[in-house]
Amino acid sequence: MLCNICPRGCNINRETNVGYCGINDKIEISKVMLHYGEEPFLTKDNKPSGAIFFAGCNLKCVYCQNYEISNSRGKQISVETLVSLYKQLEDAGASNIDLVTPTHFSNLIIESLKIYKPKIPVIFNCGGYESIETIKNLLNYVDVFLFDFKYFDDKYAIKYSKAPNYFEIASKAITLATKAKPNIFSDGQMIQGVVIRHLCIPTLTEDSKHVLEYIANNFGKDTYISLMSQFTPTVNTNNFPEINRKLKPIEYKVVLNYAIKLGLNHVLIQDLSSSGEEMIPDFKHDNHIFKY
Ligand code: SF4
Repeated sequence: MLCNICPRGCNINRETNVGYCGINDKIEISKVMLHYGEEPFLTKDNKPSGAIFFAGCNLKCVYCQNYEISNSRGKQISVETLVSLYKQLEDAGASNIDLVTPTHFSNLIIESLKIYKPKIPVIFNCGGYESIETIKNLLNYVDVFLFDFKYFDDKYAIKYSKAPNYFEIASKAITLATKAKPNIFSDGQMIQGVVIRHLCIPTLTEDSKHVLEYIANNFGKDTYISLMSQFTPTVNTNNFPEINRKLKPIEYKVVLNYAIKLGLNHVLIQDLSSSGEEMIPDFKHDNHIFKY
């Protein structure tokens, strides 16, 4: 079958080729861990997320914090092993199954969830560059969609993520998911719904304001938004001097004040001190061993 899982539309046979995401037809994972960094309303009683970090990505963001894994080779596993990881993470006390950068494995993830649906919420933690068809296919299997909504202006999407038409594509995908998955909470944990993450990027405050305005006007003021300040320069931002620094407090404040002005009711604010490498998941120091 030719792969058109995401808007890149590579239309290639992944049994014999790799497309833009760099991954063939086998599930490939870089890391499995109990992860404490996700939004608090996605977890229960301060328990960690059960994070499965997939290798490869259909975006190429120059500031990617998961660059270490999204651009490296992982370990190939079967659908059955993925199922076993769901069970291991549940047994280890995870409060959700957090599928990180899962887009290019959507078909195999659906296969795994047909075999076993965890009792804890399954989160599709993606970059927002998603095809409508794929989101439709996932609706019956995924509980929470955690979308990045990175850019309003296409010139930034092309420049920093090599993702033409990002805004149009992401806004359609989020629209579909928000209509199909109204938010449901149990004991303070979102067990179904949509969360939008927006990372504030140095110098792009106007673009951030446009994104928030779109959210307020189209998805409603009760949308759950995670407004992130943790932008961290990477080796790949060296070629982009205008963003090759941490976010200034004033930049975050301007965007945050605009969110307040728009009347957005559920904006998760990040401490500006988190703007640093300490927010990059520590892939090397996790003591819990999962078998795969
Ligand atoms: S999932 Fe990968 S191979 Fe398939 S269309 Fe997207 S980038 Fe191309």
